Amino acid sequence: MATKNNTLKLKFDSARNLAPAPESKNAATIASRYDLFVNGKFEKPLSRKYFGSINPATEEKLSEIADANAADVDKAVKAARVAYDRTWKKMPAKERGKYIFRIARMIQEKARELSVIETLDGGKPIRESRDFDVPTAANHFFYYAGWADKLPFAFPGKDPEPLGVAGQIIPWNFPLMMAAWKIAPSLATGNTVVLKPAENTSLTALKLAEIIQEADLPPGVVNIITGTGATGAALVNHADINKIAFTGSTDVGKIIQRAIAGTNKKATLELGGKAANIIFDDAPLDQAVEGVINGIFFNQGHVCCAGSRLYVQESVYKQVLRKLKDRLETLIVGDPMDKNTDIGAINSKEQLNTINKYLKIGQQEGAEMYQSSVDIPGKGFFCRPTIFTNVAQSSRISQEEIFGPVLTIQTFRTDDEVIEKANNTPYGLSAGVWTDKGSKIFNLTTKLRAGVVWANTYNQFDPTSPFGGYKESGYGREGGLHGLAPYLNLDKDCSFNRW
Ligand code: ADP
Repeated sequence: MATKNNTLKLKFDSARNLAPAPESKNAATIASRYDLFVNGKFEKPLSRKYFGSINPATEEKLSEIADANAADVDKAVKAARVAYDRTWKKMPAKERGKYIFRIARMIQEKARELSVIETLDGGKPIRESRDFDVPTAANHFFYYAGWADKLPFAFPGKDPEPLGVAGQIIPWNFPLMMAAWKIAPSLATGNTVVLKPAENTSLTALKLAEIIQEADLPPGVVNIITGTGATGAALVNHADINKIAFTGSTDVGKIIQRAIAGTNKKATLELGGKAANIIFDDAPLDQAVEGVINGIFFNQGHVCCAGSRLYVQESVYKQVLRKLKDRLETLIVGDPMDKNTDIGAINSKEQLNTINKYLKIGQQEGAEMYQSSVDIPGKGFFCRPTIFTNVAQSSRISQEEIFGPVLTIQTFRTDDEVIEKANNTPYGLSAGVWTDKGSKIFNLTTKLRAGVVWANTYNQFDPTSPFGGYKESGYGREGGLHGLAPYLNLDKDCSFNRW
């Protein structure tokens, strides 16, 4: 046993003591101050206010960002309305598609710079920004560029019409990718946009504004205004907005729903999650454990669809727990710019405080906490990957969204038991099932109340595939054909036979 432990220790040490492989900060140009992108130009905010954006891994200030007030929002919405009426809705769909395609190409060309900025601004590992966020953002633009001139074929028998001006509000966990998810389908369907990124992570959206400017998109078609929740609220409450697309917390989603009740504004809301990842005893356990690690620990658990609740069939529980703990020890936590890093910085001090609050709550509730022994940097916001066992189904750590690298583990015996436990949450965004049996996958996927269910994999995304939730995880779908419909009026039937 002693020998086995020594071997294991050596393995962990060698994984963690890899020579640093940092990406260069010089690959990115970040201005010391950013204004609002309105009507095709960068303009000083009428509010005259700016706030700092920091690098959560070093706590250093990266830039100053304009803080848009209600007058700035009004200016942006007016620009979007004029662009909609005079240019965008009249433009042949094929031409619209070309602009979207051009934006996609330019994201690809600037991929390295965008990845570096995403990591500096948000704290996620460069591997993640480089291999996932930026390519997925480009892919969304490519995908929706293709749909622009094929809308009648997407909705046979209908005469699809754009809605007008879309107000879009996005969170800090996938800043560029969320901007792409929102902007690409709006443009493809002929709508114009006012987008507000999250206050902690505005930089890649502003870089996207530069790309949009360089792509010569007609002024006002996309406006990007930065600011806090108050800016978001002003956008939601603006009378001339036709559609709200929001991704963020369930609490703010409820505020938005109340604010637009009784208006003509359409909405899609992608909110919180508390996904169940389920391992059956016939699953390939090593792959399943890797999938669980990918589902909650990579990207610091800053994913609304993170597999934060693990359910393991009782007969393989001990085995799975051992494998998980061993794998946890090999995870590298630290400098997000290092290409070896698995877990980067928590996005903000407030978020780290929230996670730490839940670590205390979990222990007070009687759960057993296990943390990796990895050293974490003294500066910046970091959290060790954490597992809770002996967790009650009703406990707060298994019911509430923590949004950090924290996994609860429970056991189950039968399919029905795990379906009931997995569904026993206010959320319903995603779930994962690990088993060798197709019949089990079909049984669970039809009974789990979750918008996305991954089988023998986790956190896989594709622009052709719809994404969205049940229950308090929101409504409406983004991605795929489904992602076009919320930006269209589909009430009118087609007056002639296109075929
Ligand atoms: P998170 O908890 O992930 O930070 P939030 O829901 O607080 O999520 O924030 C997501 C986005 O919503 C951010 O861009 C934020 O500025 C914006 N926001 C916050 N409060 C409001 C509000 N009352 N109305 C509209 N947008 C808001």
